[in-house]
Amino acid sequence: MKDERAKLLGTALYSSASQIALRLISQEPLSGDSEVISLIRQRVRQAVAYRRRFLAAAANTNAYRLIYSEADSLPGLIVDRYADVLALQALTQAMDREDIKQAVLQQLSGELGEEVVSVVERIEPRIRELEQLPTASSCLLSGTKAATVYALNGVRFHYDALAGQKTGAFLDQRENYAAAEAYTHGRALDMFCYQGGFALHLARRCQSITAVDSSRPALEAAEQNAALNPREGWPEIEWMEANAFDLLKDYSAAGREYETIVLDPPAFAKSKRALDAAMSGYKELNLRALKMLQPDGILVTCSCSYHVSESDFQQMLTSAAADAGKRLWLVEKRGQARDHPTLLSVPETSYLKCFVCRVI
Ligand code: SAH
Repeated sequence: MKDERAKLLGTALYSSASQIALRLISQEPLSGDSEVISLIRQRVRQAVAYRRRFLAAAANTNAYRLIYSEADSLPGLIVDRYADVLALQALTQAMDREDIKQAVLQQLSGELGEEVVSVVERIEPRIRELEQLPTASSCLLSGTKAATVYALNGVRFHYDALAGQKTGAFLDQRENYAAAEAYTHGRALDMFCYQGGFALHLARRCQSITAVDSSRPALEAAEQNAALNPREGWPEIEWMEANAFDLLKDYSAAGREYETIVLDPPAFAKSKRALDAAMSGYKELNLRALKMLQPDGILVTCSCSYHVSESDFQQMLTSAAADAGKRLWLVEKRGQARDHPTLLSVPETSYLKCFVCRVI
């Protein structure tokens, strides 16, 4: 790859279909496939070594992102570890190439040895379509086991890489679960609870928990996750199927009170154009939640929309607090867990905002 004055910029992986035709893999010239493959192996080794270094200290956690695409200088490749099962996603033409995938698999197996018993390739049909790759379905690349049990901060969860509903956790929230747990108290509401990530952490400290999601399968998985954990001292968790907007409206109109509320909605702003509508969605949720929070109450509020900046989010929250008539501390501004690092030159690698606030 060269600039307009023919100065060498580096070596990139090419896609004939993507809007991003070139993804930089090295600032050096690389000649031929074998040099590219040996660089990819080296990157896999470094990605694993980085996670090993800090996760050794992360108590009771054996699920995390092992390889995070551009941030690990492996653009188009994502590998998540769930205990002894790896889930791999090849999101570009280059990463889908058989020789590259085999090199990645060999290197992973060399680094992780018997800690990992199988690797599953997870297919996103829409991405394959955009990259003009032949259709395929999720399948085992090695080993025979696709289902396992993993732990985040000592809380246990089911995972099944090939089943519809137990797939994938929001591993980027792992450190935020632990942070939320440390602040939480009293009566808790976990909105957009999915398979119970926040709720099961809050259960270790709260007096009562209502966890809400619009997806029945997600709630069923959440209940199965709850059953995996020793629950002495836990309150019964009420899993509720409901639309979060309707429920928050009804509950706040009915004058319900909480000491802890978590808001972790899906990405409302999928594009820049959708930003205005997204901001009013966030504002509505946060306003209604704040109305129900009692003095000393904790709001853990998240946005995973890349297009919503940290300052947009903070402004929205400031105005929601004013409208709710609440004075609010911003106690912590948090982001993705350390296994999803931000590469500063690729701003898209930073998307998650998680603010911990306290009503004073
Ligand atoms: N907090 C979760 C992740 C939430 S993902 C965790 O940490 O694991 C977003 C969730 O919002 C999904 O489970 C989806 O089913 C749910 N959802 C989307 N729209 C919703 C709505 N209008 N009301 C309630 N839940 C909704």
